Amino acid sequence: MIDKPGTNQQRQERLDRERRTIRAMIEICCRGHHGTHTLCPDCLNLFTYAMERIDECAFRAQKPACSKCSVHCYKPVMRERVRHVMRYAGPRMLVHHPILTILHYADSLCTNWKVR
Ligand SMILES: [Zn+2]
Repeated sequence: MIDKPGTNQQRQERLDRERRTIRAMIEICCRGHHGTHTLCPDCLNLFTYAMERIDECAFRAQKPACSKCSVHCYKPVMRERVRHVMRYAGPRMLVHHPILTILHYADSLCTNWKVR
């Protein structure tokens, strides 16, 4: 992990938030589809995979949130699963985790402004 104080701190916070957002979304989806209170093995597998992608991403230069990223580091099959989770959990996130959701969209907006 990168642990230079200061320069990368904001990005680390954003990555942390991305991790928490993905965790929350997968939890909502798993509860809805698989009736579990914690993540079932399948969803845990997806979550672990997503975390690995974020860790790998953290080594690279400034990058936008995964949803806006053009690198597409997810394997196609995993990307499909994550997209399914986002579609299902997206609207429900506002109810369960309003602050995380707003920050998540704020991240995307900021990234868009920087790109343009
Ligand atoms: Zn599940």
